[in-house]
Amino acid sequence: MAYTLAEMRRTLEAGWGPLGGRVADTWRDFNRAHFGGRLRPLPIFLTPSTPYGNRLGWTCCREKVTHIALAAPSQGKVLVADRGVLLHEMIHQLLHETGECIRHAGEPWCREIMRLHRMITGSPIWAARTTVVKVRTADGGRASRRINPPHPDTGEPSLTQAEIARWPYSVGLDFGKL
Ligand SMILES: [Zn+2]
Repeated sequence: MAYTLAEMRRTLEAGWGPLGGRVADTWRDFNRAHFGGRLRPLPIFLTPSTPYGNRLGWTCCREKVTHIALAAPSQGKVLVADRGVLLHEMIHQLLHETGECIRHAGEPWCREIMRLHRMITGSPIWAARTTVVKVRTADGGRASRRINPPHPDTGEPSLTQAEIARWPYSVGLDFGKL
């Protein structure tokens, strides 16, 4: 049976009070504004520490997106994860639901951050998926190198892979606190 928005909100509010309610509202608003309302409600957990060091959310490394976990402090009332973290995680959610590659190195991820960036800022960015190219080395040999190639028509350089993986922070977009 499908998990509903009301259940999502109730669970978050039961655990986190008004902060949890804001997380649910932000997910709902982002879903409507940026994903055409097609993302399915899913459990969102606020957790005191993350298994991957200082990651703020960790849908990232998983092949299946069954929930979104947001890093919260062990004390205090303000989430470490902010609205930008939630939006980032929702992109992973979208790619999981559409059956596409959810990884930062994939073409679908690049397509979505370009789409969202233009929608939100009005300005385009170029994010190319990682490609392996052969390069000539100083001693005359050949080596493989991973690059994010420039735009095929305009020649505009791509964001680096680190910038692609850390959108929206990497480009200075701040969506504020939850
Ligand atoms: Zn990610």
